[in-house]
Formats: sequence, structure tokens, C-alpha cells
Amino acid sequence: MDFDDIVIGSGLAALGTVMGLGAQRRVLVLGGPSDGRFSHYDERQTVPSAFLGEGGLGNDWHGVIPTGWNRNFAAGHDAGFTAMFEHFYPGSGVAERLGQPWLFVPWKPIRPRAGFAMLQRARGDRLVLRAELARTFRVPSSGVEVQSDSGTHRARRVWVAAGALHTPLLLERALGPGLARGRVSDHVGCYVGQADGLRAPRIERGPGGAFFQAWNGAWPDALYTLRPARFAFRTLDHGIEQRAVFGLPTGSAIAKITRRMSPGLLVEAFYNRFGLFAQAPRHSVYAQVLVRDAYTIAGDGTTLLPDAAAIRAATEAARAQAPFPGVRPSQRPELHIPGIHLHHSVDLEALARAGGGDPSFPVRVVDASVLAEIGPEHHSFKMMLAAHDSAASVAGSD
Ligand SMILES: Cc1cc2nc3c(=O)[nH]c(=O)nc-3n(C[C@H](O)[C@H](O)[C@H](O)COP(=O)(O)OP(=O)(O)OC[C@H]3O[C@@H](n4cnc5c(N)ncnc54)[C@H](O)[C@@H]3O)c2cc1C
Repeated sequence: MDFDDIVIGSGLAALGTVMGLGAQRRVLVLGGPSDGRFSHYDERQTVPSAFLGEGGLGNDWHGVIPTGWNRNFAAGHDAGFTAMFEHFYPGSGVAERLGQPWLFVPWKPIRPRAGFAMLQRARGDRLVLRAELARTFRVPSSGVEVQSDSGTHRARRVWVAAGALHTPLLLERALGPGLARGRVSDHVGCYVGQADGLRAPRIERGPGGAFFQAWNGAWPDALYTLRPARFAFRTLDHGIEQRAVFGLPTGSAIAKITRRMSPGLLVEAFYNRFGLFAQAPRHSVYAQVLVRDAYTIAGDGTTLLPDAAAIRAATEAARAQAPFPGVRPSQRPELHIPGIHLHHSVDLEALARAGGGDPSFPVRVVDASVLAEIGPEHHSFKMMLAAHDSAASVAGSD
């Protein structure tokens, strides 16, 4: 064998996996091409849905980590969650918040590229990082063979962390048809409305970032936040109209857009990032809502066609059951913004039939493509933890 493990992908799921595999194993990471490219939710290209390249979407994520444990797929991993959180954000006091709907907004999000660079300094030539595409893989009688641009690499195991949109494509190339669901679930952000005289959200700042108060409601698939409504955002629906236009820009686009931002949007942006201006006579109420099978996947496997009825039903339910008194409801219920929390794109039963049901099968999928249920909270850190724990348990038993 050339390696103990090959990891396909270089985003957050891949980073969690390599951390979990430990320092003793010989690991090859095939992280995607060096000239990376984005896919987007729609042709306006304001919101990215995938990044095929080093770091994946982890180059741009905001790093928000929830502690609410609402329908938590990492349930039972409290100690591991706390340990990993403390590894990145020491002294943040996260343990006492588990089970309460806080959102941790870091001063510096975890960046996979920096994480891999640090691991490589520690592990030397036991960790090989290559900016290459894995074309496909094969499962011979023992181990795996992965074909990349530079040739064939053999290992005892392959860890697939190619992201919610690229993993189904890779699995079908390698293991055969029927593994891609052709649909994918996601969160959407929606505007519930606005209310006057609410108490400002609690914000607690620490060394690594700030914890923002969030709310659960009677609708179990929604997580609610308040933001100050200032300037033109005091007008009902102006905020969501602006946000729907700007989308969620990445990296270099932010600077350009900041120059064109309205004062109301700037106030929201400063609140979201630093917790400034929380006190306000009027607040906008937003909800992050889980929409199962929100999109059909079409074309080359990265084209997303929204299921408008499913999105509308989920956001209406979240609006109707918001946990705040006196909310003036949105008059633009059709507007929403993609959550960029794509998940559940692989058919889990088909994967089990293809070999994944056997614990000794040398292929493990560790990204959000195999997460069937993430609840209403941001999932990425928990996904990284699940990948870490899966890798650590294999490394511990080999
Ligand atoms: C602007 C923005 C803000 C966000 N904020 C948050 C947040 O605050 N909290 C939160 O929880 N989530 C957030 N997210 C979502 C988060 O970024 C993603 O859930 C997460 O990064 C997904 O990580 P991943 O490793 O599963 O996949 P990806 O990041 O998509 O990485 C996939 C990797 O696989 C590689 N790859 C794909 N195919 C191949 C192949 N054939 N061969 C080799 N490599 C391949 C790619 O190059 C890439 O490195 C945000 C996203 C964006 C865009």
C-alpha cells in the first residue's frame, strides 16, 4: 500500500477526518484542483453552492457554530464537541451552553487550508497534500485504488469528503449508478417580519468570538434570530428585499458590495459580525428553516432547481409559529435566501447495498451528503466532528 488512508476533498469534512486519523498514519489528501471553481445556486451567481478546489466552501464560510442541540445528529458527542471547540477556540466556555440555542460567531472562522498547513508541519511526510482531482476509485479484493491526475494511489481506506454536490457524482463514477438521490436538502433564510419593543438579543463576547442569543419556536425545523432594523430597514420587508438581491457574497465580492451597501444593511452586517447595535426600537425577525429536498439536482450534477412549494410551506410554518409577540408579518413571503447548508444528496440505502453497510468496507463517506437530518441549526462544525470521530474510531481499531 502507498498510504494507510486517502482523503478526497480538502474542506471542513476532510480536515476533521485527517485530524481524527492521527499522526501515525500515512495519509494522502487529494484536495481538488489548484485553479478552483465555484458552482452557484442560480444563474445570477450571487450565492455559491460548492467550490471545487483547495479548502472547499470552508474558504468562505462564516464559521458560525450553534450549541442548541436541536435534533442534533452529533448527539452523544458532547465531550468530543467541547474538546474540538476548545481546540480551535480555547477558553470560550462552550460546555455550559450545550443544549441552549446560542450561535457562536468566531472572530476568525476555522479555515481548512490553514488547518492542513498546521497538520502538515506537525506530521511531516506522513501527510501528503496534493491539489488534484480524484477521477474515480476502485475497491479490489483488499484496500482501494484511487485514480487522480497523477496516477493510481493505493491505500487501506478512502474517505470521501468531496462535498454535498460532488460526492454523489464521484460515488456513481466509482461504485455504479443509483447512489445519487437527485435531490438535496438545505436550510433557507426567511424574513418573519418585524416587531417593536423587543428586548435586545443577549450577546456574550469571549476570547475567540461572541455567542449570540437565538430562539427555538413551536415549529421544530426553524431557528430564529433578531437583528436591529435601522434606517430603511425599518420599513417592513426592505431588509429581505435587499438581502435577496445581494445574496451571500464570497471573498473578493464582499469588498465591492460593501461600497454599495445601504446603511440598514451595514447595520445588520456589523451586528451579525461583531454584535454591534443590538439595542433598537425595532427588530427584524429572521428564521433559518430546514427544507427537506429543497432542490432537485439537474444538469452536470451541480445545477439546483428549487422546489418552490416545499420552501414556501416550510417558511410559512416557521413564520406562523415564531416565538415573539406582536410581529408584523412579512408581505413578501415568496422571498428567501439559500442557507448554503446542502445535505442528504446520497441514497443511504443504495450506499449500504453497494458495500457501505459493511463496517470493513474500505470506503467511508464523511461529508454532509450522507446526513439525512440536520435539524434547523448550522451543521458544518458538527459534520466535521462526526468525520473526526469516524476516522478516530477506525484509526483506533486498525
Ligand atoms: C458564505 C458561506 C457562509 C457559510 N457559513 C456557515 C456557517 O456559518 N456555519 C455553518 O455551519 N456552515 C456555513 N456554511 C456552509 C459550509 O461552508 C459548508 O457546509 C462546508 O464548508 C462544507 O464542507 P465540506 O468539507 O463537506 O465540503 P466542501 O467545502 O464543498 O469541500 C469539498 C471538497 O472536496 C473537493 N473535491 C470535490 N470533488 C473532488 C474530487 N473528485 N477530487 C478531489 N477533491 C474533490 C473540493 O475541492 C473541496 O475541497 C457557509 C457557506 C458559505 C458559502
